[in-house]
Order: sequence, then C-alpha cells, then structure tokens
Amino acid sequence: MKILVAVKRVIDANVKVRVKADQTGVETANVKMAMNPFCEIALEEAVRLKEAGSAREIVAVSAGPAACQETVRTALAMGADRGIVVEAPAEIEPLAVAKLLKAIAARETPGLILLGKQAVDDDCNQTGQMLAALLGWAQGTFASKLVFEGDKLRVTREVDGGLEILLLKLPAVVTADLRLNTPRYASLPNIMKAKKKPIETMKPGDFGVDIAPRLEILKVAEPPKRKTGVRVADVADLIGRLRNEAKVI
Ligand code: AMP
Repeated sequence: MKILVAVKRVIDANVKVRVKADQTGVETANVKMAMNPFCEIALEEAVRLKEAGSAREIVAVSAGPAACQETVRTALAMGADRGIVVEAPAEIEPLAVAKLLKAIAARETPGLILLGKQAVDDDCNQTGQMLAALLGWAQGTFASKLVFEGDKLRVTREVDGGLEILLLKLPAVVTADLRLNTPRYASLPNIMKAKKKPIETMKPGDFGVDIAPRLEILKVAEPPKRKTGVRVADVADLIGRLRNEAKVI
C-alpha cells in the first residue's frame, strides 16, 4: 500500500509571530520556517506503518512557494521515499490544497492519505475533511492511534469527553493529533540519503485545479494584551470580585 502524506511549510513553532505593520498578514520575511508540527506526526506515523510492513511507499506532498522543497526534503530525511511540490502562492487555501491532493490521489492511488489535524499558521483544520469529502473516502480526524485490521483501519479519535473508535474502509483520509506519536529527528546519514531521493515539481494547472482564493482577508491584528492578574485575599474576596468587578456570577 502507498501512503500519501501532506506536509505544510509554516513559520517555525518556536518563532514569535509578528503581525505586519499594514495588518495584511504576518511577517514571514527572514523568519525561520519549518514543517507544520502535526504534519511531522502524520509523516512519522507513515514511516512507522512502513517499518511495520503495512506500507510499501511513502510520498510526501507540499503545496506552496518553491521553498517547500526544503519541507519535502525534510520529509524524505525522516523516511518518505519521494516527494511532490506543487508550486503555489504561500496563502493557498485549504479547499485548493484539498483539490490538488484529490488530483494527486487520482494519479498515485494511495491506500491512505495522512495529514496533520491542522496547520499552526492558519489553524483552519479543514483540509483533511474537505479532501475526504471530495474523494468520497472514509475519514478519521484527530487520530491518536492507528491499527490495521485486515483491509480496515481502526482509528482512535480524541473527542470531547473521551475517545471514539472508528473502523474505516480503505482507501481513507486520516488526520494526526498530538498524541499519535513523537516524531523522530532525521539522522545525518538519512539527511544525506534524502538528497538523492526524487522530488517532482508541478503546477496547479498540471492538475487542472483552480486555486484562486475564495476568501478575502480584511485585517490581521494582534490579540489584546492580557491584563496582569491579582491575588485575592480569601474566598469571600474572590466571590465579591467575580460578582462586582467581572460580573460573571
Ligand atoms: P489546515 O486545514 O490548513 O489546518 O491544514 C491541515 C493539514 O492539511 C496540514 O497539517 C497538512 O497536512 C495539510 N495541508 C494544508 N495546507 C497544505 C499545503 N499548502 N501543503 C501541504 N499540505 C497542506
């Protein structure tokens, strides 16, 4: 079975994100970029499935600027076999990514498509769901455990108030949650080996996909600064403040 993994290039999670002065977006010039952390988890799971003998080939796909090559190269160093970069503007929206992944799935015929549950830049949490709907495939989102059972995939999902277990027919779309695994660091020999693995560069037009934005960003603003807290003297003081100052009880 082949596994397709979607890996997004985002601002490194350790960088403090700054809003641009003209409020049209966030500053990305000279900012360290990295693979979206949930995509790392999705990729790690694919590599573990391959190591366990459940998968034969892993294809990593990224849509965005040419620099997505680096993200795909990281995926290759972590264990993917080959990569596809679809060159597109950095602001490509989830629906457009889902359409591109659908077209790539038609060409590659994977048994499983793994994505992150969300990208930490736009926090959309939409691409996997849209992709499953476009393909008409089963979906398991927020996965914290995957186990193959014959020709089905048992997905444990983290939902409010507990865990939900689904048995998915393959092919399926699964999005990775935080507790699915802890991704490995790419070792130096694997980084060297990854340099020889193939990356194909495509354009949305090659798939006949229209990636024109459907959303208009009106303004991006910093969240209001949190006010400093106060230490209350006792329970009566706390209740008084909740009632008279915060007016929440
Ligand atoms: P989102 O719906 O934007 O929160 O993204 C959820 C997941 O979809 C990400 O973790 C990726 O696996 C995938 N994805 C979203 N955008 C892209 C992109 N431009 N290139 C590759 N994968 C993407």
